[in-house]
Amino acid sequence: MKNSQDPDFGATGQFELTGVYFVDKKTDATFATTLGMESIKSLILLGAGHAHVQVLTQLAKNRRADLDVTLITPWAYQTYSGMTPGYVAGHYAQSDCQINIEPLLREAGVRWISARCSGLDANTSSIMLDYGPSAASTPNSQDTAAHSPQHISPLVSRPAMLTYNLLSIDTGSVMERRVLDARMPGASEHGLPIRPIEQFVNRWTQAIQQAKAKAANHPGHVFQVCVVGAGATGIELAFGMRQGLLQHGVAARITLISATPVVAANFPTSVQKKVLAHLRRKQIEVVFAQCTQVHSDHLDLDNGNSLASDLTVLANGAHAPTWLAHSGLALDEHGHVLTNKHLQSTSHPNVFAAGDVATRVDMAHARNGVFAVRAGPNLGLNLLASASDQPLNAHTPRAQSLNIISCGTDHAIANWGRFSAEGSWVWRWKDRIDRDYMASFHRTD
Ligand SMILES: Cc1cc2nc3c(=O)[nH]c(=O)nc-3n(C[C@H](O)[C@H](O)[C@H](O)COP(=O)(O)OP(=O)(O)OC[C@H]3O[C@@H](n4cnc5c(N)ncnc54)[C@H](O)[C@@H]3O)c2cc1C
Repeated sequence: MKNSQDPDFGATGQFELTGVYFVDKKTDATFATTLGMESIKSLILLGAGHAHVQVLTQLAKNRRADLDVTLITPWAYQTYSGMTPGYVAGHYAQSDCQINIEPLLREAGVRWISARCSGLDANTSSIMLDYGPSAASTPNSQDTAAHSPQHISPLVSRPAMLTYNLLSIDTGSVMERRVLDARMPGASEHGLPIRPIEQFVNRWTQAIQQAKAKAANHPGHVFQVCVVGAGATGIELAFGMRQGLLQHGVAARITLISATPVVAANFPTSVQKKVLAHLRRKQIEVVFAQCTQVHSDHLDLDNGNSLASDLTVLANGAHAPTWLAHSGLALDEHGHVLTNKHLQSTSHPNVFAAGDVATRVDMAHARNGVFAVRAGPNLGLNLLASASDQPLNAHTPRAQSLNIISCGTDHAIANWGRFSAEGSWVWRWKDRIDRDYMASFHRTD
């Protein structure tokens, strides 16, 4: 399901220019001068990921005249992935799942550049920018208009390159077209990747329209959805899509494709069993095979079989951004930024990274939203400490974390260490946690 309007976050140089936006009465002139002044350090935050929205709240609590902070991210909001399957299921509105970053920027006195980083040279402390369609310029859904930057005015010039004293990277995992196609030919043309999540959310709305049109034109047709990838995200989306399509009166058949011999492979066996049993209850078929090619109306599997598919959702194959490859930063074997216990690059002390884009050298860790969120406060403190040459704090993530897999919006499975539980009460619990989390970013003028 390729949409020619969609920005390709995997390639460079394909964007229309959009803009640089100032908040908190900063002007173009101050921007130009402060970045060059000796006494004022420039901090660039790359990406409004789960960790950086926490950093913004830290910066608001510790506003510093000697620190000039710029956030570079393409969208005027951060999509909270934990609630996205609930949006797909029709339970939440799009705005319920979006953190409006403008009030956070204003509170922290941080400038926003609506662009993406397309290149980084850590040896010269410079980043390259690529401007393109963003929430600010393309409110292509009814809900994003709620987050248009009314209090932010555009700058005339748009720098192609910026230098920094301090850099923090929280740009998440990506699914670049070139990489997807190399693994599964046809994936970018015929598949619906779940990243960038903002694009996925918008295209889900189109997918529902497509499903309804097919049902109207072909009475009796059962809309076939294949979700490739049976990790927690693929599972949650399979349940959510079933519910969402039913709600729109579309007869659908959902198939989950698992390349691993078990679903939810990162979870204990008790969780895997519960997930499988609930998939059966909801008549979601699980096929244990690897998807090798995606076509417009079917996909091929490595066992020689093909599956009919009106909509192929790609919930696998997330990877590190390829623009990091030539950055000069120390990277792990998969291209993630290597950091120490201070969330600081092991090769460049003026670069920090957290969330999916980073790998800690001193410990094994999950790559998920919970881990990214928890790193945020310490990342913020360490950026402030580093700006004033103070000692850094070690970030020690909790050994256990509560994980909840939603199975539509009437059932969920919780996991803590070896323990698991399920039921509609677990779903209500998750709903409350997620709504409270979102409420913590709500600001009234
Ligand atoms: C549908 C879905 C459901 C999920 N559910 C859960 C869940 O329930 N629990 C859980 O723990 N995890 C969940 N995850 C995983 C979770 O979303 C990620 O682990 C988490 O988002 C990682 O956070 P992050 O801060 O690293 O990056 P992200 O949250 O991905 O944020 C990255 C930010 O960087 C911006 N960006 C990207 N590229 C650039 C660039 N080149 N330049 C500038 N900015 C850029 C993006 O626009 C975004 O603002 C889910 C994922 C998906 C897709």
